[in-house]
Amino acid sequence: MDKVKLGISSCLLGENVRYDGRHKLEHYLKDAFGKLVEWVPVCPEVECGLGVPREAMYLIGAPESLRLVARNSNIDHTEKMLEWAKTRLEQLEKEGLCGFIFKSDSPSCGLNSVCSKKGIGIFAKEFSSYFKLMPAEDEDRLRDDKIRERFIKNIYIFKKRH
Ligand code: SF4
Repeated sequence: MDKVKLGISSCLLGENVRYDGRHKLEHYLKDAFGKLVEWVPVCPEVECGLGVPREAMYLIGAPESLRLVARNSNIDHTEKMLEWAKTRLEQLEKEGLCGFIFKSDSPSCGLNSVCSKKGIGIFAKEFSSYFKLMPAEDEDRLRDDKIRERFIKNIYIFKKRH
């Protein structure tokens, strides 16, 4: 099978990009997808300029107008993140991505409910509205065999159509 380009939250590949300078390596992703894909790692918080280490972030506000705020200083990083995301999404489009795996429960990357069902992470939200048809999942959900099989099938369908 041809390799497909898959975006992924960088910390899931073992990059030390989390707020505390650590990673969230998920071996099963490398095992399940490693031979099928060429990874395109993305860390929204580092790439938008927040650095490592940094304050932990959280989301505040109504689900439709969430703000990304630093936990201790209360600095609002929403505009910085949105500005960066605009350019990065255009770059990712040129890269020819066929899907994305997001880090679950992250205020930037979480795709499904984040922080007690506050909603989708800021970057995941921008990604989903830019790439409306591109397959995307949280790494947590991909532990389920059926969800993972469907996701893999969908990324190949997407590749064929684009
Ligand atoms: S969850 Fe996203 S923003 Fe947080 S460290 Fe991982 S890649 Fe970076």
